[in-house]
Formats: sequence, structure tokens, C-alpha cells
Amino acid sequence: MTQRIVELLAPAGNLEKLKVTVSYGCDAVYLGGEKFGLRSAADNFINSELAEGVKFAHDRSVKVYVVLNSFLYDRDLKELPEFLIFLEKVRVDAVIISDLGVLKTVKELTNIPIHLSTQASCLNVEAGKLWKKMGVKRLILGREVSIAEASKIKKATGLEIELFIHGSLCMAYSGNCVISNYTMGRDSNRGGCAHNCRFEYSLDFKDKKENSFFMSSKDLMGIAQVPEFFSHGIDSVKVEGRMKTHLYVGTITKAYKRAISHYEKNASLSPAMIAELEGELRKVSHRDYTEGNLTKRADEYSIFDKREHLDVDYMFVGQVVETKMGEHILMEVRNPFFQNDQLELLPFSEKEKTFKAFPLENILGEVVEKAHPGMLVKLPYVEGVENLNLIRGRSL
Ligand code: SF4
Repeated sequence: MTQRIVELLAPAGNLEKLKVTVSYGCDAVYLGGEKFGLRSAADNFINSELAEGVKFAHDRSVKVYVVLNSFLYDRDLKELPEFLIFLEKVRVDAVIISDLGVLKTVKELTNIPIHLSTQASCLNVEAGKLWKKMGVKRLILGREVSIAEASKIKKATGLEIELFIHGSLCMAYSGNCVISNYTMGRDSNRGGCAHNCRFEYSLDFKDKKENSFFMSSKDLMGIAQVPEFFSHGIDSVKVEGRMKTHLYVGTITKAYKRAISHYEKNASLSPAMIAELEGELRKVSHRDYTEGNLTKRADEYSIFDKREHLDVDYMFVGQVVETKMGEHILMEVRNPFFQNDQLELLPFSEKEKTFKAFPLENILGEVVEKAHPGMLVKLPYVEGVENLNLIRGRSL
């Protein structure tokens, strides 16, 4: 039985990560140029990288959406036309906007399709209809909307609908928060959020004092809801995380792609498969997981009432840069590991393969005891390995 396709939309924090997520099977990527997006701390793309990224993605039938979702001052808006003309020239598939001034400029100067950013907090049918009149093709709804509510907005507006399926959540309305501006002078609307909601606060009640992380949200995980995204006709599911690591984007893309492809073919997702994929999603850095608002309103169980820690069992040890059939893998090392460590290869679609880092050799073929970041090392050949595959190991 063939189901309607749900687009898997993944983050591309830089050109390397774009290549990783495209190779692991996403249907579309979103990325930011040097300005106008909301992630000033992400690497972001200079124009030449953006053009290369679009070509790499389009050659593999993957779409590219560019974020222009800051709210701009007049002085910023003046710089936008030149960038828009460049984006149209390299044939990006859509731009993601929040600001009406940006929307007007895009419409006047280009024919690039417009997606409404979650930052605009569209939560209802009437808002959706108004955005449609203004030329928006797709609504990226606020994270406060459930899958069922999103489906109603789709039916009433006839617009494409995109919902977040995985990643960090904001306790404010889809990022409309200025705590960071007031406390740190860092503008969250311009990618500078200091994540004050993750801090520990001292609560002073009438009869007691308490320390708490009461504003820190768990992370969203919607793998068990993949069937509902299909049955409600959601067009695109989005993974948050332009600032996350290569291993993060590769692992998450692969897990969701497996779930979506399996559901497309079989119209079902067994509890065993969901459990297996959830296990994979727990291998990357995350806070505890929550379903957020996907099926019911998020409540106190969505609060991650702990100090943030990045303890993860697995780390990204490197990426395959060359393979010699039956002989060895050449890998660029990203984190240190030792000869004889157990490593796991993440093929693009097959199951993960465990192997031992023995022998471990440098590029000259000399045995080394420890691999350091930046080194090129030779590892034993693993059946099915391909260039750009990621390799992970247990955290030291
Ligand atoms: S401080 Fe927290 S709630 Fe506010 S914008 Fe940043 S992540 Fe969102």
C-alpha cells in the first residue's frame, strides 16, 4: 500500500552538515546565509557555499529552503534585495520568513516560494487564511499546535503545512522571548539567545525557598507519531538543530527517514520498530524527551527540571573520506579514541555495524595507539561502508 509522502526536512548548519544530512536521506534542508536568519552562532553559509550546497542537494533531488526569519530593522532591510536576487539565481526552493517587510520585499523582487516561519506563531485558521492572501505557500505552524489542529488549518487554508517533529523546544511562544535581551544584551530575535530558560532559578515562596529549573523544556521527539503525521495529511516534518553536530544530524535524519519510508510502504510502524528508533535517538545529546504538543497540550511533564548536561554514551569519532574495497577505511578523526575501541559505522540506510579499531594506522600505514582530532587514520574495512558515512564510539 502506498501512502502520501511526508517530507523530512533537516537542518544544515554548514556545508559539511548539509552533505551529511542529504546523504542520510532527508528530502529537504533548511539553512541560513550570513544574515537575516536566527542562528548567529551557527556556521551559516557564505554565498559560494550556499550555491555549492544547493547544487549538492538538487543533484540528489533534495530541496533547499533558506531562513530569512529575523524581524528586521529598516537598516537591515536595505541589504536584503541583493541577497534575494542571489537566492533566486541559485534556485533555492523557498525562503522562510516571519517579518511582513521581508515578505513584501521577497514578493516584489522574486518568484521564490514563501514559507511562513514558526517564529510568526501561526496557530489558527484565520491567521493561516490571511497569510495565504499575502502570498505564503506553506505554514510552519507554531510548536503549540497539535497534529490534529494542524490538519484542520491545512483543510481550511489549502496551504502546505509543516510541523516540528524533533529537537529543542522553547518555553516561549516559538522563540518570541526577550529574556536573553534583557538579562544578557543578547538578542534572541537575531540568533543571540543565551538560553536563560535552561538556567537554575531560586524561587522564593512565602514559607520556603526552592531552587529549580522550572522553565527548561525537554526535547521534542515525535517518532511514535509518524503515522499521525501521515493520516492527518501533514506535508513536512522538521528537525530542529542547525547548531547541532554532524553525528546528531546524521543519526536523527536516518532514524526519521527509516520511520517515514517504512510507514510509506507498509502503512504501519510496529512498537518494536519505534522502540528501536527511539533507542537510536537517545544515542545523541538530548535532554529527556517529550511529545510536546503533538497529541495533547504539553504540561509539567514536559519540563526538564535538571541541570543541563551533555553526557551522552556515544561520541562522533570521525567521518569516512575514502574506502578501499576489502582493505581499509580512511577516516578523518573528529574526537579521540584508542586502538581496539569498539566503533559503530552508520551506513546511510542499513543497520549500524559494530567493529573493532584494530589495526589502527596513520596515513603512512604505521600503527598508532591513539587517534587524535584532525588525523587521517586507516581502519579495517567494513562491508557496506561508503564515503561520508559517520563513525561513532563510546564516550571516553
Ligand atoms: S531563553 Fe529559552 S525560551 Fe527564551 S528564546 Fe531562548 S530558548 Fe527560547
